[in-house]
Amino acid sequence: MSIIVVGTVGYDTIETQGGKAIEALGGSASYFALAARFFSPVSLVTAVGTDFRKADEELFLERSIDLRALRKSPGETFRWHGRYHEDMNLRDTLSLKLNVFADFRPELLADQCSADYLFLANISPELQAEVLGQVKSPKIVAADTMDHWIANERAALIKLLPRIDVLTLNDQEARMLSGESNLVRAGRGLLKMGPSAVLVKRGEYGVLKFGADSLFAVPAYPLEEVVDPTGAGDTFAGGLMGYLARSGRLTEATLRTGIVYGSVMASYAVERFSVERLAALTWDEIDNRYRSFIELTDSHHSRWNFQ
Ligand code: AMP
Repeated sequence: MSIIVVGTVGYDTIETQGGKAIEALGGSASYFALAARFFSPVSLVTAVGTDFRKADEELFLERSIDLRALRKSPGETFRWHGRYHEDMNLRDTLSLKLNVFADFRPELLADQCSADYLFLANISPELQAEVLGQVKSPKIVAADTMDHWIANERAALIKLLPRIDVLTLNDQEARMLSGESNLVRAGRGLLKMGPSAVLVKRGEYGVLKFGADSLFAVPAYPLEEVVDPTGAGDTFAGGLMGYLARSGRLTEATLRTGIVYGSVMASYAVERFSVERLAALTWDEIDNRYRSFIELTDSHHSRWNFQ
């Protein structure tokens, strides 16, 4: 039930209205791995530079995250600098430096090629396809993407879609990729492009899941304070994929439970800057919030009979 994740591991500088984090551990694969590892073993496939801090390597290793396919190359680690608006659903990227990630050619180890579960985090669709091609017969493949790839590598992305089971993307990206402005039509349109489930992330409004003949929605867990929304989507995917790998099946039921676990994990991630909260999280906390999440959405509908 081991999960392979390919994506960025890097250093983020994050500015919010309430504070700033400088050169903090981030990257899509970092958030994913630190969430998924609570459910299933995780192997990270990525590239970092020689400036990658020993303490960060240890943070992963101490949490049993497999770093055998983390390639350290001469040069600098991936860096991203973002600034959030007062409305934290909005942010600007101030700078993005791929650094060693620019020349990254992922190479899985022999045992990793027979993994059952694969998450292709937000990287170029070509690189995503390259990793997918190395995994012999995966049981569940999920992928994330972003506006940049939809705009600039659309053909490669469209070619990838029939090869994946679950696609995660945000509402604007769903509209952009499908060409539909209505979100329900966008979700339905994306399903026709290949994946068996399309999960549209809507920030503080939660997640909408589209399946062949079903629609499922959950809110985001309501928090009094969001410190840093960075990585919420990747953390969500980590909780979801972790749960799917743990249960070993992709069904309507496992997807729905996985979406709730993903939402629980994301709600913790945003409570602190960077991966700070995720790194300190315990299983008891996950379990407690899972229960409150279920209570939050329980309408007790079956108890009422007006006739
Ligand atoms: P999210 O908030 O889910 O979009 O994820 C943010 C994380 O993705 C940050 O930790 C960044 O380091 C990383 N990131 C930002 N831009 C990119 C990009 N173009 N490609 C890959 N990772 C990125």
